Amino acid sequence: VTVAEGDKATALIARSVVKPTARYEDYREFLRWDFWFSCAYCAITEIEACGIGFQIDHYEPQSVRRDLIADYSNLLWACGPCNRHKGGDCPSSEERAAGLRYFRPDLDDAYEHFEVAGLRLNGLTPVGTFTIEVLYLNRFALQEIRDLRRELFEAHHEILVGIRALLGVSIDQLNPVVRARFMQIRKRLERRAAAATAGDDLVREFNRSPLLDRDPDQLDLTKRRREWLAAQKALLPRVP
Ligand SMILES: [Zn+2]
Repeated sequence: VTVAEGDKATALIARSVVKPTARYEDYREFLRWDFWFSCAYCAITEIEACGIGFQIDHYEPQSVRRDLIADYSNLLWACGPCNRHKGGDCPSSEERAAGLRYFRPDLDDAYEHFEVAGLRLNGLTPVGTFTIEVLYLNRFALQEIRDLRRELFEAHHEILVGIRALLGVSIDQLNPVVRARFMQIRKRLERRAAAATAGDDLVREFNRSPLLDRDPDQLDLTKRRREWLAAQKALLPRVP
């Protein structure tokens, strides 16, 4: 069983080059970045997931491949439900050869394995169907998210049409008061449009949840809490 079995060229995820470490948790922030702050399997973003946590998933489970526990190429960023459904499942070589294995977005082409049909995903290959069935990729919450995305997409389109119409208005037709106000708005829109050209960064910023960012004071807090508890316990009468 090898880790890499997909078709790299058209994968949506490109991995960072990372330094080896013995603790896989050290890769957390690299994984969030590389996986677009989204689940590797169901593609829910951190922001969309609201209260649902994210975890580091071992594509080859820790219980089976101890040698790959801290291997960056074996780690994926996944939402809690997908990670839980996958659990420690590790298809055999025969099963994998028959396509009964999990899709992985860093090596496989999503468009080859899945198609969107309304709010549902359909498998186009055994790998796609296996992943949909075992990870419940048509679960209710994901269909709700797809519906919201569709509405947002349509709203964005309407807004863009409106902005384009505004930018195309000939200002000579306007009276001076309206014209001044109009120019203000137009300048602001043009600045926004210029700022929005950094496509990939914008997508990441949009997907990222600050609730999953590391607390910069965490180490301090842990130390303070431990010291406080030790001090409190020291005051208690000793039990012989
Ligand atoms: Zn997921």
